[in-house]
Amino acid sequence: MSTAEPRVVIVTGGSRGLGAGIVRSYLESGDLVATCARSITPEVEGWMSDPATKDRFLWMPADLAKAEDANAFVKAVVAQWKQIDVLINNAGVARDGIHSMFSDDDIDTVVDLNIKGTLYVSRAVAKRMLARRSGSIVNISSIVGLSGYRGLATYSATKAALDGLTRALSRELGSRGIVVNGIAPGYLKTEMSHGLDADQLNQIVRRTPAGRLGDPEDIARVCQFLTAPGNGYLTGQVIVVDGGLTS
Ligand code: NAP
Repeated sequence: MSTAEPRVVIVTGGSRGLGAGIVRSYLESGDLVATCARSITPEVEGWMSDPATKDRFLWMPADLAKAEDANAFVKAVVAQWKQIDVLINNAGVARDGIHSMFSDDDIDTVVDLNIKGTLYVSRAVAKRMLARRSGSIVNISSIVGLSGYRGLATYSATKAALDGLTRALSRELGSRGIVVNGIAPGYLKTEMSHGLDADQLNQIVRRTPAGRLGDPEDIARVCQFLTAPGNGYLTGQVIVVDGGLTS
């Protein structure tokens, strides 16, 4: 645990996968961490009961595709800890399939969480950060938002949208002491990549200079770097963290 002043950190979708890895990283650095998702997991229950984390961890069930849930979650964090220093917009969902066969429901599910959910949370958090003239926001997009991926048209479109949001918000908030960056991960070992079959995964690993899929820790490390208290100048950037796959 560090000796620096603890920060108030929001990680959306921190119940499993990448989000859980990011929550763990900020808990390990001594920060106060809030997360939400639709359902609780054993990992979340562990943080809620562990004496080392229970007083520094806040959980709230929320469906971020709904503006009222997103607003209530941010309000609960401010009620508990008065401020928000860091926002990691991590919650996301993918649906794969040929775009011409995609249902309205599939399009809505992906757009409503990945774009609208991120906009709702960012809006509520930015309001609080603006009042204090300080803060750091990281949007988790994906390399498929940059390069595209067959069968992931809607998902790729939403991730490219997040990169646009990163650039626009960094301009809007920069003069008020708030930095906004994005991370575009490559393929990670989480539930989301379970949709890829063994052949696809082997091909990705073969084409990745680092020779493996990414771990949540690979991305959490970059979140920590971008949101370090001293960073007031690196903003508006999308950092690709993919083991060199798209280099
Ligand atoms: P994951 O294992 O499926 O976890 C997604 C998280 O988001 C869970 O906590 C999930 O909990 C939550 N979530 C889903 N729908 C939600 C909703 N409507 N409201 C609130 N929370 C919701 O996915 P992951 O692989 O960790 O991905 C995390 C982020 O990294 C996503 O933005 C993803 O696009 C991005 N990413 C992943 C990869 C990869 O290879 N895995 C690569 C590049 C980028 P509930 O389902 O209980 O709500």
